[in-house]
Amino acid sequence: MSDSAKYIFVTGGVTSSLGKGIISASLAKLLQSRGFRVTIQKLDPYINIDPGTLNPYEHGECFVTDDGAETDLDLGHYERFLDTITSQSNNVTTGKIYQSVINKERKGEYLGKTVQIIPHITDEIKRCIKILGSKSAYDFVITEIGGTVGDIESLPYVEAVRQLKWESPDDCLVVHLTLVPYLAAAGELKTKPTQHSVKQLLELGVQPDILVCRTEHELTPAIRNKVAKFCNVNLNAVIQSIDASTIYDVPLLMLEEKFDQVVLDKLKIQDYPEPNLKDWNSFLKRYKNPKNELTISLVGKYVELKDSYKSIAEAFIHAGAVNEVKVSINWVHSEDLNAKQVKSILEDSDGIMVAPGFGSRGIEGKILAVKFARESGVPFFGICLGMQVAVIEYARNVLNLLEAHSTEINEHTPYPVIDIMAEQKSITNLGGTMRLGTYNCHLKKGSLAHVAYDREDIAERHRHRYEFNNDYLDMFEKSGMKASGINPDSELVEIIEIPSHPWFVATQFHPEYKSTVHTPHPLFVGFVEAVLKHSKNK
Ligand code: GLN
Repeated sequence: MSDSAKYIFVTGGVTSSLGKGIISASLAKLLQSRGFRVTIQKLDPYINIDPGTLNPYEHGECFVTDDGAETDLDLGHYERFLDTITSQSNNVTTGKIYQSVINKERKGEYLGKTVQIIPHITDEIKRCIKILGSKSAYDFVITEIGGTVGDIESLPYVEAVRQLKWESPDDCLVVHLTLVPYLAAAGELKTKPTQHSVKQLLELGVQPDILVCRTEHELTPAIRNKVAKFCNVNLNAVIQSIDASTIYDVPLLMLEEKFDQVVLDKLKIQDYPEPNLKDWNSFLKRYKNPKNELTISLVGKYVELKDSYKSIAEAFIHAGAVNEVKVSINWVHSEDLNAKQVKSILEDSDGIMVAPGFGSRGIEGKILAVKFARESGVPFFGICLGMQVAVIEYARNVLNLLEAHSTEINEHTPYPVIDIMAEQKSITNLGGTMRLGTYNCHLKKGSLAHVAYDREDIAERHRHRYEFNNDYLDMFEKSGMKASGINPDSELVEIIEIPSHPWFVATQFHPEYKSTVHTPHPLFVGFVEAVLKHSKNK
């Protein structure tokens, strides 16, 4: 390869959900802590162009980058661990690969040739991998291959890895994440699934350099030896990844196993500094030794699958650690909330959040949750749809516009306090067409948002089609709901607050995407602080 970056591929075997994203992010964290510049990329073998059109029940949260890519939630882990941003290039799907190859074919770029999986699809995969390394911005590009080795869908990806390794053996390394299950009846750890999984990779021409073994019990020296011997890897390249109480412990567990050193040695990189994990360790110390515990109700319609709100849950961990409190989330299904039960379900909450979302299911429950928070003085934080329902609730119950709604839910409402953005009206395709990515916002001096951020100009990430209808702004402001954050270019309302309430803030943007271990999000920190204060005064 012409660039100087080293490429580390992370494949998975035996079963899905072993945590390739966390292992990749942990390795990246350790390399970063030794002063290297690292980025992580996820290759997803499904045919959707991006997960933006996928139901969260299928795929968990859709993470949004600064440059407006709708991506896999693993990119959220990468950003939260590394405190560096990802971009369009960090998440590639089979859909994107095929779209690009087919577009080239139509343009005549392959004129005269039969377009095939090998070499055209595999070449496109290789191009997408090398793009990140070619900018001299990184010493390491870690590429996580989604799915499990042996899946039909991931075959072209494994073939691309084989070719890259063959072309540049000194610059590439393959880490295979596998499972060493414990059979309770036999009282033993079993290596056979790992052996089979490695055999499958070997059949595809790829010899893994390092095996990370997920396990519920310590690997004995005998087990490590067996895995090394049967899978052709060095003994020190059998890395144990034992279940951890928090994902944030994994980098430290990997450090104990010398995972990063084995990687560096195999890539013949010498003379590197000791890792500096001071900030990480101090975060962990605060996170693990809370002085108080708080319960925040998170009202949403996908609460059965917690991954749907991954970044929010993690942002509460970061903000909790800053405030030295344990934030327990009380997951509330918005469809369970009705006028009779709302009080009994929410009255024990120290704070209430209404989550982002789409469509009409559960919307009235969300509006009831806002009403409860507004009237009872419980700190409230709404995000995206959560802001929109806060506006609807205020319109209905304070401004007396009883049929107020968002035109997303009721096209013919007489009071469209939330309306489709002008630029969205002519859009018919659903994929990748929302208002996405970073936009600027100017904060009103003295507002809660201003206090939390401690500056007047911010930029946050978005994912929406509807907005606050500025025709009603005067009415809201006069009766006590203020717009405290405005986009300076489009005048779009980005934040609303109720100054007479102890802490009532809702944002059109998604602050959760920008919270990291190193830089907890100021609004989450401010909210948790307010919740703590409220709980002490109760
Ligand atoms: N459905 C709303 C919109 O499109 C809110 C989106 C969201 O919560 N991400 O504007």
